Amino acid sequence: MKVGVLGGGQLGRMLALAGYPLGMNFRFLDSSPEAPAEPLAEFIDGSFHDDEVLARFAGDLDVVTYEFENVPVTAARQLAQRAPVYPPPEALDVAQDRLSEKTLFRRLEIPTPRFAAIDSKEDLHAAVNDIGLPAVLKTRRLGYDGKGQRVLRSPADVDAAWTALSGAPLILEQFIAFDRELSVLAVRGRDGDVRFYPLSQNSHAGGILRVTLAPAPNVESALEQQADRHARAVLETLGYVGVLAIEFFEKDGVLLANEMAPRVHNSGHWTIEGAQTSQFENHLRAVCSLPLGDATALGRFAMFNIIGETPPIPAILKIRGVHLHLYGKQARAGRKLGHVNVRLEEGAASQEQLDAVGRLTGVMTTLA
Ligand code: AMP
Repeated sequence: MKVGVLGGGQLGRMLALAGYPLGMNFRFLDSSPEAPAEPLAEFIDGSFHDDEVLARFAGDLDVVTYEFENVPVTAARQLAQRAPVYPPPEALDVAQDRLSEKTLFRRLEIPTPRFAAIDSKEDLHAAVNDIGLPAVLKTRRLGYDGKGQRVLRSPADVDAAWTALSGAPLILEQFIAFDRELSVLAVRGRDGDVRFYPLSQNSHAGGILRVTLAPAPNVESALEQQADRHARAVLETLGYVGVLAIEFFEKDGVLLANEMAPRVHNSGHWTIEGAQTSQFENHLRAVCSLPLGDATALGRFAMFNIIGETPPIPAILKIRGVHLHLYGKQARAGRKLGHVNVRLEEGAASQEQLDAVGRLTGVMTTLA
């Protein structure tokens, strides 16, 4: 089975690492020759917008998938004429635009923060009146890791936020003083079989994911059921194949959907050692029409992102229960360079593990 992957970042690298034991081969397409997947597989350094490059990429592939959600939908549709493309380009289309994403959630009766499309300063003032403050103004497209957004706390912030972001289509969202952030990962096979990973609890700083605890502590089954129901609705409506992630805000026992990612997701990295079948393997099983694997957690895990600089490797590996995953990227401020998965022990020992990894990665966390 030869799998073509659009995008050659760390998610692609981890897909390849999961696929080789299953006898799969990979070809990546990315415009950066230094992409993390480059050393691992056949690699085409080229543009998603170049027809000749796309034809060369498609060659003898059995299936095409993506690890990067800003792949142009036109490229995905073009490739779909040569090989099956999963998840369906329609999912990519919806997920690339915060307004279409939230409109889909609303249509499927998945609760979201209140929102409004903003195309002019007048729209913004009207939406602020309607939704109230605080609120968050975001670019509809190409925002990630907190980029392209401004929190509006007082009326004085409104015009400044407009000046900073106008020029691109925008969305205004109600600001949710959430109890916590949770995400669900679900996978659907080509035969319609669906598996759900347990909810993950995510902590962000500066819009970037820092730590995931999984399974999320103190989750009642009713909450897990909400997440699974919402994920199933999206999967089935889009005829989805592969792993889908939905990020939620939990507020007073209700999940409000913030966004979805039509790909494997950072909040699922704990599944590499923490679940019976990792998100990467299950994504490949799904797109290659193989039976899905069990998505059950094997214990309690924490995942810490390594951002900006890599701590001394021996110091990380000395901590009980850790697994280190480095992506082979040059260090740069704010860049995700790798992650540490930790299998948590019982009782007070787990806090010692969290503290030890937290001191090295710069993020302290508790299980409370
Ligand atoms: P996003 O790019 O939409 O994932 O936003 C990045 C982070 O900003 C989220 O994970 C939240 O921590 C925060 N955030 C985004 N939208 C909202 C909102 N409507 N209310 C409160 N916090 C938000």
